[in-house]
Amino acid sequence: MKFGDFELSIVRECMFGLDGGAMFGVVPKTLWNKLLPADDENRCRMACNLLLIETPDGRVLVETGMGDRWTEQEMQRYGHEPLTKTEHMLADVGLKNEDIDAVIISHLHFDHAGGAVRKVDGKLVPTFPNAKYYIQKGEWEFSYKANARAKASYRPEDYEPLEAAGQVVLVDGDHEVMPGVFVRVTGGHTSHHQVVYFESQGEKGVYFADIVPTKSHIQPAWVMGYDHFPLASCDIKSDWLGRAARENWLVVFDHEPGVPWGRLSINEKKRFEFQALSEDTLKLPIAR
Ligand SMILES: [Zn+2]
Repeated sequence: MKFGDFELSIVRECMFGLDGGAMFGVVPKTLWNKLLPADDENRCRMACNLLLIETPDGRVLVETGMGDRWTEQEMQRYGHEPLTKTEHMLADVGLKNEDIDAVIISHLHFDHAGGAVRKVDGKLVPTFPNAKYYIQKGEWEFSYKANARAKASYRPEDYEPLEAAGQVVLVDGDHEVMPGVFVRVTGGHTSHHQVVYFESQGEKGVYFADIVPTKSHIQPAWVMGYDHFPLASCDIKSDWLGRAARENWLVVFDHEPGVPWGRLSINEKKRFEFQALSEDTLKLPIAR
C-alpha cells in the first residue's frame, strides 16, 4: 500500500493462540469474549503481523514473529500455525531476506524475536543477513535479569546470535532508524517496550506492537495481563490512541487476526472506534 513515499505491506508470519484471560487482564470474559472469542482451551486466536516499510532510503521490517524453532508440544500449547518459512520469510511480498536493511524488534518476547534468527547447519544465524537489528538497550539488559514471572517470555537464543554476528544496534531511547521511521519508547508492556512511528509526505502512522495488540484492545483500560506495568499501559494507550485518532494516523496492530490496519476515531461517548482498511490493501488471505 502506498503511504507517501513509502510502500507498506503486512507479512503474516504465523497464527497462534494465547490464554484469553492473560490477553485481557482485569476485563471480564463476558465482555472480551464477544470481541475475540476463545477456543475450548480458552485461547484467543491471533496473528503475528510484521510490518514492512519500504522507504527510498532502505527497507525496514518491524518484528520477526515466532520463527520455527518450536517443539511439537510447544506448537500445540500455543496453537502455533506457521505461515512463512524463516529461509524465505518475505516470499508473500516477493522479497528475499537479504533485501532487508533494518529490523526493529519492539521487545524481546518470543513472539516478536523468535524469527530474528534461524538454524542453518545446526548453527543459529541472523535471519536477515544484511540488516541491523534495532533493540532497546534497557530491554536487552532486562531480559537477562527477568524474574520468575517475566522470564518465561524470553529466550536468549533468539537474540544472542545477532550480537555475535555484529548486527545489533542497542538503542537507548527514541531514535530515527531510517529517514521517516522512528522508534519511540513507551514502557508499559515491558519497561523499555518501543513502538514504531513513521511519516512520509504528511502521512503519519504507528505500529503499536504490544501496547495495543489487536483492535479489541483499543479501549485504554483493556490492558493485557502480560503487561509488566498495567496502570502505566492504560495512560500510554490513552496518549498514543488519542493522538492517532485526532491526527488520523494509520494504526497497525501486531496480533490482530483480521485486517490489522486502519484508522481510529473517538465517538460521542468518548470511546475509541476502529475502522479497518479494505482487505484489498493486504497481499494475504485473512483467516476468519
Ligand atoms: Zn506479543
